[in-house]
Amino acid sequence: MAADEDHMREGILRRVKGLFEEGYRAEAVEAAMVIVTNPQGVSYTINILERTCSCPFFVKHRGKYICKHLFGYVSLLVQQQAYDKLTITPCKQYFAVWDEYGELIVVTVYKIGAESVRKRLSVLALC
Ligand SMILES: [Zn+2]
Repeated sequence: MAADEDHMREGILRRVKGLFEEGYRAEAVEAAMVIVTNPQGVSYTINILERTCSCPFFVKHRGKYICKHLFGYVSLLVQQQAYDKLTITPCKQYFAVWDEYGELIVVTVYKIGAESVRKRLSVLALC
């Protein structure tokens, strides 16, 4: 039984680490309420004071396990904030990634490469 619980917790923590890169988004809508939206556009409401989430996993396991949304909303907000501070602009036939102070970080050949750099740097905000 304890091994099953450890396995379950490890799975939840593994999923938390990838939320931002998978396309999850979080938005603080009230002082104690955050909306987490998955890449498919489905949103769940987190009540910070009550430490609850409206997702099916949390409802099913309430009291025993907390979900990846509740575990991960803070890191998601931090990574989003870091992401928003970086900008991508076209630079002739290339793409430039700039930091919040207007310093050039990198120039890439493809826009998808610039976006990849922007996302990877945002993930590093947690380091
Ligand atoms: Zn949840």
